[in-house]
Parts: sequence; C-alpha cells; structure tokens
Amino acid sequence: MSTQESLLQVRDLRKRFNISGDFLDQLQFKGGKIVRHQEHVHAINGVNFDVSKGEALCVVGESGCGKSTVARTVMGLLKPSAGSISYKGERIDHLSDTALLPYRKKMQMIFQNPYASLNPRMTITQTLEEPVRFHNPSMSGAEVRERVKEVMYSVGIDPGWGVRYPHEFSGGQRQRISIARALTVEPEFIVADEPISALDVSIQAQVLNLMMQTQEERDLTYLFITHDLSVVEHFGTRVAVMYLGTVCELAATKTLFAEPKHPYTQALLSAIPRLEDNRPNHIKLQGEVPTPVNLPTGCVFHGRCPYANDRCRQEIPALIAQSDGSQVACHGIEEGRL
Ligand code: SF4
Repeated sequence: MSTQESLLQVRDLRKRFNISGDFLDQLQFKGGKIVRHQEHVHAINGVNFDVSKGEALCVVGESGCGKSTVARTVMGLLKPSAGSISYKGERIDHLSDTALLPYRKKMQMIFQNPYASLNPRMTITQTLEEPVRFHNPSMSGAEVRERVKEVMYSVGIDPGWGVRYPHEFSGGQRQRISIARALTVEPEFIVADEPISALDVSIQAQVLNLMMQTQEERDLTYLFITHDLSVVEHFGTRVAVMYLGTVCELAATKTLFAEPKHPYTQALLSAIPRLEDNRPNHIKLQGEVPTPVNLPTGCVFHGRCPYANDRCRQEIPALIAQSDGSQVACHGIEEGRL
C-alpha cells in the first residue's frame, strides 16, 4: 500500500464528548464544599491510519468502539478534540463549513439508515438533482438531468421511477438511491457507515456487490465502517480492528483472516460461523467491554485479555509494524510471548 497515493491521513485522532449536563448538573457536594465535576465519553483515543487511493479500508468493531465517530469526524460532521485529518496532504479537520465545501464534493457519505437519510418530501429525482446543482452551479438543467439519469441506471434504479417518493421503495432500493445520491457529484472518496446493516440479509450481498462494482467503474476509495467481520472478508482491501476507541490491529484483509495476531482480533474472528472444521474454536472473552467514560489504564483490552501482564495494565501499547506488513498494538506480541 505504501507505494500508492495516500488520500486520507488520520493522525492521533481523539474525540471526547462532554456528558456532564448543564452547569447546575455539574455541581457536587464533596468534603463540605461545592465542586464542579465534568464527565466525558472518550470515543476515539489516538487513532492513526491512512487510506490509499483505490482501496477499501474497513473499520471493524463492536458497537460503541468509536468506529462511527471516526467516520463522522473524517467527514467533518464532528470536530476532533485533538489530532489531525488530512486529505491529499491538506489539513481539513479545522476548516470552516465554507472552506470544507470543495472537499464535500470529493468526499461523500452513505449512512446506515437509508430511510432516515432521504427526505420523505422530495421525489427521487429532486433528491438526486439537488447535490448536482449545488456543487455544479454552471451545469445546465439538461446536463443535470443527464448526470442523474446515468447514475440511476448504474445503481439499478429505473430513471422512470424518479417521480416517486422514498417510502415507495424497499430498504435495498432506498440504499441504492442513497448510493446514487453520493455518486451524482462524482466523488473520489466515500465513507460508508454500516451501509448494509439495516437491510435484510438477502439484500445485503446485492448492495455490497453494487458498491464493489461502483468502486471499480468509478475509481473510488472507501472507508467502510461495519460491525460485521464476515462482510469485510469479501469487501475490504485492508481492515482496521477497533476496540474502545483505539485501533488494535491493521492489516491486509487476507493477512488478517489467515493470521489474526491481536488477541481481540482472534476472538472476533473465532466468532464467525464457518463450515470448515479446521477453524479455531470460539474464543470466549471474559467480562464486558469497559465504559468509555472511565477508560482502563494501559492496554484498553487488558481486563478481558488472557495474556495481560503488569506492563499491559500500565502502558498503552503502540501500533507496531510486523514483518508481514500488518500493524498490531500489543505488548505480548512485541515481547514475543504471543
Ligand atoms: Fe493482551 Fe497485553 Fe496485548 Fe493488551 S497488550 S492485548 S493486555 S497481551
């Protein structure tokens, strides 16, 4: 990947949300005094990755691991608390909405719930024409209509249905329309946040196939967020596995599935049902995912890891490059005891 052009660079990204309520909620009586107490959810805690042109980087993890916050922060929908996001070498994380406009054309987002993300009062044609007109004010009406028609064909939606409203379509068709809306402005980079998890299982493969076909036809790059590792196996070029707001392993998809290294990745992979009987037995993790309000010290996974030692409980492991090109954040692997 290193030889390919890097489109997106995320460096030491952090995002925390203040959940302390208003000023009066924050006041507490302690030791005879009134003190102000604030609480934060630490959603992303120092995430680093690059997305190369033409690849599909999948970010995988259980709900609450921070993957959707990564997606929204990359798209500028949330401002990071610290760290940087660059697109083609230009910092974009601190830009105003106006300065972000040219990037909004190049970077598009597809959301999990296609029903909520389509305006119920607009016809499909209106929904698809709006972003084209907005980003290309010099285009004639005929050119806009032609662009929309071409995109509708390419995602398998008959342009003749453009007069209909979102509620007249099935979930799978609505997600095709959401994909079409992203494509109408001819983006380079698409962030897809759980784009198939709200769909029936029978429809999921069709939408995934459409996304793969579109990637090839339009030379797209994806940041694909999912909780489902089995989806990643068929879709992604590389995978970043997240746990409690940190990336614990980042590897080429084939490498990750053939030889998962981090104990958390191994547990996740072992939970995928397989027909072959030579797969490792299901690894049952002890305990629950800790709350992101009070992050554990050291490795965030230490409370559930069978290999944790004193160092793991104190020192945060860094993502370290391995000989096969993957990167793993684990003291046990660095020390050669795993
Ligand atoms: Fe387990 Fe330690 Fe590795 Fe964390 S750093 S995954 S606790 S061995």
